[in-house]
Amino acid sequence: MTTEKKAEKKPEYIKVEIARPRAYKWSSGKYLGKLYKEALENRKLVTNRCPKCKQLLWPPAGVCGRCNVEAGEDWVVMSGEGTVLQYTYLVFPLWDPHYGDRLANPYPTATIKLDDGVFLVHFLEEKDPEKLKNVKRVQAVWKEEGRGRGLGDILYFRTIDE
Ligand SMILES: [Zn+2]
Repeated sequence: MTTEKKAEKKPEYIKVEIARPRAYKWSSGKYLGKLYKEALENRKLVTNRCPKCKQLLWPPAGVCGRCNVEAGEDWVVMSGEGTVLQYTYLVFPLWDPHYGDRLANPYPTATIKLDDGVFLVHFLEEKDPEKLKNVKRVQAVWKEEGRGRGLGDILYFRTIDE
């Protein structure tokens, strides 16, 4: 072994460019398609109800997972208001894995129980960590542009006073 310090050799990187067009179409299906359509065209959150247990399915589905019966077309327009059960406050850059959009930083996400009984995870508008501790009631704020993404058509949930 030599005492001479070896000159640090920089690694050689090989750059490979891959043309990977991502333009594709896929069917969201009958039930999820209704959710996407109502969100896009009417800014409404909809889901269907099980005919047996009468519970709302989320996301809308053809079969109730509890009863194992066909869910059918009993559609319900949900209020878009709910209660924050838990939140997470993330402070580092992230990207939307589905669409590649850069997410706001910081961005708080929350588990929200809608007044209709459906649980969902979405962003909160409030970004002040101290104020977040007191956020209870929230309301969906719909995007003006870039719509057609179902639940992603909701920009975030805004704190409402009650
Ligand atoms: Zn059921």
